[in-house]
Amino acid sequence: MNASNGNLRVLIVDDSSEDRALYRRLMTQDASKSYEFIECDQGEDGLDLFRRHQPDCVLLDYSLPDIDGLEFLDRLKSDSPESFLPVVMLTGQGNEKVAVEAMKCGAQDYLTKGLLTLEGLRVAIENAIGRVALQRKARELESVKSDFLSTASHELRTPLTIIREFVSLVRDGVAGSITVQQTECLDSALQNCDRLSKLINDILDLRRIEAGDPGLRRTRVELQLILDNCRRDFLPQCEKKRQVLEVSYPTELPPVLCDSYRMIQVVVNLVGNAHKFTPEGGRIVVTASTLGDTGEFVQVQIRDTGPGISREFQGRIFEKFTQIGRQHGPGAMGTGLGLSIAKNIITMHGGQIAVESTPGSGSTFTVTIPAYSEAREAIAFLEDHLLAATAANTKSIVIVIGLDAGSPLEEVERFTHELLRRRGDATLLVKSEALLLVIAETEERNETAICSRIVRAIQSKYPITGVSATLNVIEPMAVQLDRLRNQLQSSGRVVSTPDRPAMSDVY
Ligand code: ADP
Repeated sequence: MNASNGNLRVLIVDDSSEDRALYRRLMTQDASKSYEFIECDQGEDGLDLFRRHQPDCVLLDYSLPDIDGLEFLDRLKSDSPESFLPVVMLTGQGNEKVAVEAMKCGAQDYLTKGLLTLEGLRVAIENAIGRVALQRKARELESVKSDFLSTASHELRTPLTIIREFVSLVRDGVAGSITVQQTECLDSALQNCDRLSKLINDILDLRRIEAGDPGLRRTRVELQLILDNCRRDFLPQCEKKRQVLEVSYPTELPPVLCDSYRMIQVVVNLVGNAHKFTPEGGRIVVTASTLGDTGEFVQVQIRDTGPGISREFQGRIFEKFTQIGRQHGPGAMGTGLGLSIAKNIITMHGGQIAVESTPGSGSTFTVTIPAYSEAREAIAFLEDHLLAATAANTKSIVIVIGLDAGSPLEEVERFTHELLRRRGDATLLVKSEALLLVIAETEERNETAICSRIVRAIQSKYPITGVSATLNVIEPMAVQLDRLRNQLQSSGRVVSTPDRPAMSDVY
């Protein structure tokens, strides 16, 4: 309850004044609660009222004159992606499909107009408020758990490094000669130090990724190199287990847009799992191909002839700490975090990861990521740097500089790069559009000064055809990116990002 007088504050967004009056009438019949109503007949006004009054619940008509109920939900979510929406959608009779869609978009419940009763309305509102409260509580608990894990992990890291160092010294005979049996014991201790160290690193890594700070730097990457290196690294251990490891891709495989360190992490995890879970004499096949006619995505598949994964687990396998048949105590298994990290990483790349498996006949993991294009790299560059600035709580300005196509473009970029001084500063040349993107970290008071210093310095040496500056001060990143996209598009320099592939395109 957020109204200061203890009332439940209900926002009614419906263009029919009779319907609004009906909801009010029904609710005021409920003597067990007192309500405070705010109402309007347009979606835009409803969004504004929501921001200003933070109601406990919203009764939202699906068909509004300006925007429909689903767009209303989308806009609420983009306003505050972290929060849950206490919305009950009201749809016409026979419109159940829309109602289901609304639930998928974040509404807590729906009611059919024309079939309204006091009891139905009361229960829907109570449920919506209760579910939002529960979701918030669950998120709070998740965050406490995650904070605890990451603090504990940090604290464990240093002593673990010291233990490993001393065990290693004794194992190598530095502190005196040791027997074969003692060597075996110390080897086992070292192996377990390494396992613990991987667990700690995975927990800290996942924590960072989940906090929205993955430190991505997406650039043009030749996937073939990653796959070839992976094969080279895994071959010795596969041979030990008499497993066949094959890697294949077409010669014309296009480059991809990704953070190569993160992409290696994903491929190594998937091939590592295939190796780990496939028994001796099995087969692991890694293939890469272009997806769809337009070639907007590249797909990597890792197939194995291992035990497979039951349907029940396939749905949960990308969740943290999910391990099939995990026994308590030491075992050959890993941390149960690898696939969760992989999913987060691939989603942040605008891609998808999925598993297909028949128990007893192996598993196929499919990763899909965007193919490289200069235009997509430009948007990724802005996203990655603005996200890093937000995570580091620093402020950056983005300057989009149109250059004369005849200028020595790379030279202008080098020159500009040398003008920059701070850690978060960066440049990207969009050659085909003769655009130079500059990100410069700055204090609030210096924004305009920094922008004009950079632009003036470039202008004194090279011709500039246009400049636009966007400041990363208070706006959410999505709004800024939209504006930048619009600026680039209205200058005739179109930058587009591909839509995520539908899973039906992947298979
Ligand atoms: P880890 O491998 O460290 O346990 P992951 O998150 O990478 O953690 O994998 C989670 C679980 O998914 C594994 O413990 C295993 O039960 C199952 N799994 C992953 N890959 C495969 C595979 N190729 N074949 C069979 N099971 C797999």
